[in-house]
Amino acid sequence: MVYDVIILGSGPAGWTAGIYTVRAGHKTLLIAGIRWGGQLMLTTLVENFPGFPDGIQGPELMMNMQKQSEKLGVEVMNTDFTQADFTSTPFKITADGKVYEAKSVIITTGADSIWLGVPGEMQLRGKGVSTCATCDAFFFRNKDVVVVGGGDSAMEEALYLSQVAKSVTIVHRRDAFRASRAMQDRVLANKKIKILWNKMITKYLGTDHVTGVMLKDTVSGSEEEWKTDGVFVAIGHKPNTDFFKGIELDSKGYIVRKEVFDRDGLLKYRSATNVPGVFVAGDVFDYRYKQAITAAGFGCMAALDADRYLSELHSSP
Ligand code: NAP
Repeated sequence: MVYDVIILGSGPAGWTAGIYTVRAGHKTLLIAGIRWGGQLMLTTLVENFPGFPDGIQGPELMMNMQKQSEKLGVEVMNTDFTQADFTSTPFKITADGKVYEAKSVIITTGADSIWLGVPGEMQLRGKGVSTCATCDAFFFRNKDVVVVGGGDSAMEEALYLSQVAKSVTIVHRRDAFRASRAMQDRVLANKKIKILWNKMITKYLGTDHVTGVMLKDTVSGSEEEWKTDGVFVAIGHKPNTDFFKGIELDSKGYIVRKEVFDRDGLLKYRSATNVPGVFVAGDVFDYRYKQAITAAGFGCMAALDADRYLSELHSSP
């Protein structure tokens, strides 16, 4: 049997895409992965997803999305795929040693935050340690926070936090940022933001909540304790694109999303990839917004694009 659509990934983009493709009458398989649910499975209270006036726990939100998709008819496999071959049609996805075929595929495999990997980080995630200022800045109103990193993400996190926090300290392991000049200038001009050059965090302090960090000077090797209420790690993301064959990636491994126009110059697909019939949604291409709600929106767009592709495929002679 060949599926109309196979969706790879089970974050907000994947479940939303599934809801739309089954409701459009397409036989849909969603390969969720063993570690299903994406980044929201690692978060606690989500207050910025509309529809939940008191907020909702990240894992509960994901379980609701799964339930909704399954109820509407999405077939779900809680297993990892090991290869996705887009070099011929139907597309071939290998999972659990079996090959599943589809006329169209929507890739929503997301991106994982890169963590520092130092003692205390795992235990204090959601208890003062975060990788998303947009999600968590609210909890640090009038508090002291640290941002780690020297790229555009770190600049953006620091600027965002400076609007609510009492103070923001950027900890960077070198004596120069790699962020764009414009972002650096905005950070350097911001009176609330202080920079600690040549420093790295070697340990988080606190048991129930972050109370500080140990900082090591990367030049002298000396260590000191630094008190803070929160730490935002902004040292990059790793897109989950290891198993794709035939899909164009950018230099950082993100999928290249393309717009496709019809013969009259009107926008036809916004979620296309280099392979006709393969669409993309969520953090696996989007390094800019990275929100649950934007991922869900991109999932909807990719499903509508896949629907149009399938309609044209079925009506072509
Ligand atoms: P990035 O550019 O790769 O920067 C990562 C930063 O983290 C670097 O400064 C790096 O230090 C530091 N770092 C890496 N590993 C570390 C570790 N183990 N300990 C301490 N520091 C560590 O990543 P990004 O900032 O997430 O940006 C990713 C891409 O998205 C970039 O192309 C960026 O331009 C783009 N982006 C654009 C915007 C925007 O246009 N508004 C916003 C966000 C991101 P070193 O410098 O020493 O290597």
